[in-house]
Amino acid sequence: MSETIETVQVYLVGAGPGDPELLTVKALRAIQQADIVVYDRLVGEDILQLAPADSQRIFVGKESGRHPVPQDRINALLVGLAGPGRKVVRLKGGDPFIFGRGSEEAAELRNNGIPYEVIPGITAASGCLAEVGVPLTHRGIASSVRLVTGHRRADEPLDLNWNSLADPDTTLVFYMALANLEEISDRLIEAGLAPGTPAAAIRGGTMPGQQLCIGTLADLPRRVLEAGLTPPALIVIGQVAAFARGRGNHPADVAADLAAFVREAGHA
Ligand code: SAH
Repeated sequence: MSETIETVQVYLVGAGPGDPELLTVKALRAIQQADIVVYDRLVGEDILQLAPADSQRIFVGKESGRHPVPQDRINALLVGLAGPGRKVVRLKGGDPFIFGRGSEEAAELRNNGIPYEVIPGITAASGCLAEVGVPLTHRGIASSVRLVTGHRRADEPLDLNWNSLADPDTTLVFYMALANLEEISDRLIEAGLAPGTPAAAIRGGTMPGQQLCIGTLADLPRRVLEAGLTPPALIVIGQVAAFARGRGNHPADVAADLAAFVREAGHA
């Protein structure tokens, strides 16, 4: 492993959902050895502080206005910063390869012959949902899980296959979906998913001040609006969302809830 550490020039590192305790050991080591850290809006100060005090920090989340730094400029920046004997850590929230555009950066590095390594992170779906006691799958209730983007380009409708998403046995986890939650809810109901399907929204999951909104597919948009949730928020829709509980993850409570739910649902 030390051989890799010597030759790699750029690390594409997943920082997890927020709580620094959810970094991997490998991510922590890369951050602690960084000469330059290039980071996003979702990476908190407490994680950045783990980098050496004399390391350079470059923020590429949003420019001084509200526009995100274009991806091709981030790609060019990483290529420009890379060099022998220098460790560049590209730090992203969650996992770099899940809605993180890490694969685009990896392709650019590869095309430029720059040695790089991808260090996976705990994605928001598993990190935030574990925090509120929601399993992504559960025998007899959710046999699959889908991670879906709820983001759309300005003025374009959400380009998703609603019929394939409207499956009562699948857990749906929507990223970047807050602004389009009403449309998501309407389209899933139109496609046949029961309006009473449990649903929840988690804002700032695993971070101080985490917020949780619990409801159904039909009423979650209203509840989220009333609660005034702002990004970053994650939406979970599916039977498993019935187990969402306030902050904290108490295995005994969750197990009891699951057992009760399974009984009510007639699965046991
Ligand atoms: N690569 C990241 C996702 C980046 S897209 C990952 O694997 O988690 C950004 C979206 O991720 C946000 O809009 C939100 O939907 C979700 N997200 C990331 N961190 C979150 C957090 N702590 N709480 C709630 N949602 C989060």
